[in-house]
Amino acid sequence: MPVLSANLGFPRMGANRELKRQVEAYWSGKIDASALLKVAHDLRKNHWELQKNVLGLDVVPSNDFSFYDHVLDHAFTVGAIPMRYREVFIKTNDDLLPCALEGDFLSTYFAMARGFQQLPSDGSECPIVDLEAMEMKKWFDTNYHYIVPEFHPNQQFKLTSNKFLEEYKQAKSLGIETRPVLIGPVSFLLLGKTSPNSPADFEPIQLLEGLLPVYEEIIKHLAEAGACSIQIDEPCLVQDLSPKAAQSYHVAYSCLSAAAKKCAKPIKIHLTTYFGDIIPNLSLVLPNLPIDGLHIDLIRAPQQFETILNAAAKHPTLQLSIGVINGRNIWKADLSAAFETVKKAVAVLGADRVIIAPSCSLLHTPHSLDAEAGLNPEVKDWLAFSVEKIKEIVLLTKAANNGIDCIKDELEANQRSIQIRRTSPKTHNPTVQERLKCITRDMMHRRSTFDKRWVKQQEIFNLPRFPTTTIGSFPQTAEVRKARASFKRGEISQEKYNEFINDEIKKCIQLQEKNDIDVLVHGEFERTDMVEFFGEHLEGYIFTKNGWVQSYGSRCVKPPIIYGDVYRPKPMTVEVAKYAKSLTKKPLKGMLTGPVTMLQWSFVRDDQHHKLTTQQLALAIRDEVSDLETAGINVIQIDEPALREGLPLRHSEWKEYLNWSVDCFLLASCSVADTTQIHTHMCYSDFYDIIDAITRMDADVITIENSRSNLKFLRGESFTYPNEIGPGIYDIHSPRIPLHEEMEHRLEEMLKRLKRNSIWVNPDCGLKTRKWNEVDLALKNMTDVAKKFRSKN
Ligand code: GLN
Ligand code: ZN
Repeated sequence: MPVLSANLGFPRMGANRELKRQVEAYWSGKIDASALLKVAHDLRKNHWELQKNVLGLDVVPSNDFSFYDHVLDHAFTVGAIPMRYREVFIKTNDDLLPCALEGDFLSTYFAMARGFQQLPSDGSECPIVDLEAMEMKKWFDTNYHYIVPEFHPNQQFKLTSNKFLEEYKQAKSLGIETRPVLIGPVSFLLLGKTSPNSPADFEPIQLLEGLLPVYEEIIKHLAEAGACSIQIDEPCLVQDLSPKAAQSYHVAYSCLSAAAKKCAKPIKIHLTTYFGDIIPNLSLVLPNLPIDGLHIDLIRAPQQFETILNAAAKHPTLQLSIGVINGRNIWKADLSAAFETVKKAVAVLGADRVIIAPSCSLLHTPHSLDAEAGLNPEVKDWLAFSVEKIKEIVLLTKAANNGIDCIKDELEANQRSIQIRRTSPKTHNPTVQERLKCITRDMMHRRSTFDKRWVKQQEIFNLPRFPTTTIGSFPQTAEVRKARASFKRGEISQEKYNEFINDEIKKCIQLQEKNDIDVLVHGEFERTDMVEFFGEHLEGYIFTKNGWVQSYGSRCVKPPIIYGDVYRPKPMTVEVAKYAKSLTKKPLKGMLTGPVTMLQWSFVRDDQHHKLTTQQLALAIRDEVSDLETAGINVIQIDEPALREGLPLRHSEWKEYLNWSVDCFLLASCSVADTTQIHTHMCYSDFYDIIDAITRMDADVITIENSRSNLKFLRGESFTYPNEIGPGIYDIHSPRIPLHEEMEHRLEEMLKRLKRNSIWVNPDCGLKTRKWNEVDLALKNMTDVAKKFRSKN
């Protein structure tokens, strides 16, 4: 058997984000469920045919499609549907569900993802049905968010959806043999959380034995349908594991392997790891884990190659899948270097035991470069998106099987691109590099300590207790997006566009004043996205037209690409901030994206340490902070929602990362006078274990997501925060209007842990995905609550 080419997962949205559009059309009632299912059906078909027939890939994945999130799909598959959703949609409070959910499958599914509220027709405020969405969390260190499964001690699992089987069969009916993808049982449990009211010593991993029979069934169904192998993802193997979790691997895979062997036509188990190395956990995998294949990420962790290759060599049959093409970034691979790795693997294991693959699922890279006609051709030549990456994999496989000469022309072109990028003056700017050398520690602390700043700021702002604010963005309506698109196409003039934006700003200021918000924002209407906007105004960045990647649910982001040294040629936000300030007597908060988030949410250059790139970004933001301050904007928020997601997956590496990343925030924020109030904002992660780093950031105020994760950060044992803090008191991802009592409850809880005069009142995150009437009602309720607390406390 020759070396095989494989993919671990294809982007779901479609070349033109068809899935996003149709899912949203379904949510707003414009299309029905059968139309949505048809769209999904067609998209999958296109993606399989593209990978198999057009690109010539050997191993094509199935069950990588999802309407919202693959972890949510899996929770559904194994019947881990929390009771509150069953009661409403499935009309059962039985722990065991009917086998395949018919009918209201999509409603249940989307209620879990987004929450669900049914208001009475008489217009009264109290909803008949009021379900909050499940918690959402970042997928390892990516900007993809997954729905966190919930488990309770008596959890029963049952095969509840046959999505995995339907998709396998759909591909098969098209003549395409696929390898279905599933999240592995251990990672699935480790990624979940315990339901409220579970005993303190309960850990989801204790449920393993009850979960395994469902996997056995899945394996049996797939084998019967003809599947030859199944990809089981265990990304948790690249992390630190508790002893209990570590032991679970053997239990789980012995069971799965036995099930696979029992099938009339045995099915191979291909264990997939990514985002790091498995060396510290290697003894859990090799030589004893009964698996047929193992995938390792050689982009993030090339250092594991030799060790694993040697361990694999001792195994009689194991297939090793080598992730040599970066699934997390957009640079063209150096095919010559990658081929060296392939050659080594083949030399040691023999061709029939080597598979060439991307480092991880291609979910994290855009669809294809085809749509990028406008891109600077020199830089475009350095790039590869999902389709191009599969081409690279197929080329390497060809070379492995038929000799390097059979890809001679492609290889030559590839080496030329690599060489040009390496030496291009576009990537190196001497002025920027000089400035980096002049960074001193002095630039990284405020002039006075927080207590002193606080007194001075109180004098100026004179804010009430429980001051209210928002996180920055206001509704990005269809009109806003339309105006921006027309402007970009040159159909409306800069002047007209500015006028339009100013009108939105006016509307936004009026709405905040009407609802008695204390610190106002301009609404961020001029920004498609908080990173893209700044990237567009900085040198060293380029932008794609269609380079979307899924962030959560139907939401996609278009990460800009940092290809060279970064600097700020001119002010970026001063004009809009000044205009907004001219409309109100209240403090107006300038709104910037922090350097670490700029780095995390961009595709980054891979030719220098992230620290250097982040320092360049920090200096650019620092310039903007100074200009805002000079323009009289004396509250400035520097968002760092992605600080945590940059954390290395292993604890031992946290310290180094937190040192340089917090330094970069300080570098960006510390130029200001004591009287300028610096805010920062973070969301959708656990923060209690990096609270020291957050404290070192020394922002005067931090606003932090908190409602959707149920006050989790307050539960950190020793949680204290010396400066001011606004834990969000309502979830902004859901169209439901937060009620007074739930927000009051959250504030009460905060009061138990935080100083009374240090609490701000704000939503979890920006309001860009909401509608104006929702924002109006929600903010009114929010300020009511703040006022009540002022009088009460
Ligand atoms: N200021 C941004 C907004 O309000 C923050 C977004 C975020 O934290 N992701 O949209
Ligand atoms: Zn946020």
